[in-house]
Amino acid sequence: MATKTNLLKLKGEDKRLIGRLWQGYVYPLRSRLYLAFFFMIILAATTAAYGFLIKYILDVATELGGAGAASDAGEQAKRFATLVVPVIVGVTIISGISMFIQSVLANSVALNVIGNLQKSMFGSIHKADYARFGREPTGTLISRFTNDVTILTNALLRTMTNLVRDVLTVVFCIAVMLMLDWQMSLLVLIVYPIATWPIISISKKLRGNSKDVQEQVGVITSQLSESFTGARMVRTYELEDYENRRLGKSFDDRVRLNLKLVTNKSRVDPILEVLGGVAIAGVFALGVYRVVGGYASPGDIAGLLTLLLALSPRIRALGTLNNVIQEGLAALHRIFEVIDEKPTITDAQDAIALENVKGALEFNNVSFAYEDGTQAIASLSFKVKPGETIALVGPSGGGKSTIINLIARLYDVAEGSIKIDGMDIRNVTLASLRGATALVSQDITLFDDTVAANIGFGRLNSNMDASAEDIEIAAKSAAAHDFIMELGDGYQTKVGEAGGKLSGGQKQRIALARAMLRGAPILLLDEATSALDAQSEAKVQSALDVLTAGRTVFVIAHRLSTVKTADKIFVLDKGQIVENGTHASLMKKGGLYAKLRALQFS
Ligand code: ADP
Repeated sequence: MATKTNLLKLKGEDKRLIGRLWQGYVYPLRSRLYLAFFFMIILAATTAAYGFLIKYILDVATELGGAGAASDAGEQAKRFATLVVPVIVGVTIISGISMFIQSVLANSVALNVIGNLQKSMFGSIHKADYARFGREPTGTLISRFTNDVTILTNALLRTMTNLVRDVLTVVFCIAVMLMLDWQMSLLVLIVYPIATWPIISISKKLRGNSKDVQEQVGVITSQLSESFTGARMVRTYELEDYENRRLGKSFDDRVRLNLKLVTNKSRVDPILEVLGGVAIAGVFALGVYRVVGGYASPGDIAGLLTLLLALSPRIRALGTLNNVIQEGLAALHRIFEVIDEKPTITDAQDAIALENVKGALEFNNVSFAYEDGTQAIASLSFKVKPGETIALVGPSGGGKSTIINLIARLYDVAEGSIKIDGMDIRNVTLASLRGATALVSQDITLFDDTVAANIGFGRLNSNMDASAEDIEIAAKSAAAHDFIMELGDGYQTKVGEAGGKLSGGQKQRIALARAMLRGAPILLLDEATSALDAQSEAKVQSALDVLTAGRTVFVIAHRLSTVKTADKIFVLDKGQIVENGTHASLMKKGGLYAKLRALQFS
């Protein structure tokens, strides 16, 4: 059979993928799978049984017809009919029930396998280096979870049902055909192997086609998510036409690539359909001679025809199975690619937990470049005492956010070291390092959950989930309590996707409350107050004073007040500290800081 020969040509890599899928995901569900196989066997057997039934019915009917005028022929016919009808209906019922059970079981195996693969993928992504999010557009990543998963589900289902049910049906049917009239069966079945060659050549083309289509789906997903998250810009800057053109081109590409795929896919079915027709015509043509010559009965011929008709769709399904498997393997490859991502930022083997952190922080000759080669920090050294507030200022692109990223170990330094309380952060556990820091940034992340939950995330991982009281205290100190009480359901109000139902300033105060709740000794504020209006800033400022007391704080801020009261100001330019001192000393010095200040107030 075409599919078989081609399946044997799986590359070593494909075999490994399938092996892993079986071992890790299908094997645990084997009892359900074997039960599905059992009902597939019954289904195949009942299909083949039709051949026998038809032969028997026709032969008896012919005999009765031959008996013609015999006195009890009518009586016999009636008895025959009352016997045949229940048998046919019975076989159909068994076949129908088996069809249902095998379908539900096979689907449940496939869906569970897919669900578990998605869980593995998702788990792996959040363990992987943070840098991976910069490497692949979000939409492409999402399409691995949606598009690739759909393709794989389809492939899994088809493989399970086609490989077992259809192969069995074909084998059973052919066996019965050989029993009915082996010479004629061999003659007519010989047409099918002819299809092997064109099917193999078509499926080679399909592999390329489906890869193009899957990549294109990733692109569209990316563009859609960009376009929808940027809806405000699109409307106000009148970018609708631009977006229509941009997405329109992608949709057109999708049509073009899919048409190519579908055209090639559509070639397989007709080839097999025509060959099926040739086989049926062969049975008719040869059948007459066989019956007249006394080599076969009309029942044999009718049985053969029934079986050929039952076979045809099964053989067609097997003919296209290879395409589905190829698509599925490509999807599986993309799925395992995510599951296999090995983080480079992990706990060292002898990592110890940071405990009772005082908050002394030290950069020792630190250099760092992003993956694209952008040198963000160069030979940077400084020391910060516990409880000090450090303001990072300087032109954009100077490296301020990078310093914060490095302290939280979102990236590892390329050279030098960062120490907290004298310990290299690469030698402490990631969990304890992250537990010792709280980040509040200008891009505030709120999840579509209640206000209370969004504040509670500050302490989700610390074995002591925040109580409603803790949450309220944190909200009060972040000047958020009053506005929260004015929301429809108070702390139980849902904030909408990405906090869409709240104003920028409200979101920011919730983020500050979250950081308060976290109670981490090192605070990283990346323009944390940028979205506040003057009134709420005044409120938050006093809240910040509470929050920062006794903690080591790195703050990136353009607002004068926050910077002015800092213990030290580092002025960063091109990844280096070009000036440092207090506000007063830097103003007096009249360097870059004084110049930036003057610019701000000019
Ligand atoms: P600042 O916070 O002072 O504006 P950053 O620390 O964000 O500066 O950036 C320092 C340099 O690193 C800039 O040249 C910036 O373009 C580059 N950079 C920042 N983030 C990335 C990234 N994810 N990938 C590549 N380059 C980056």
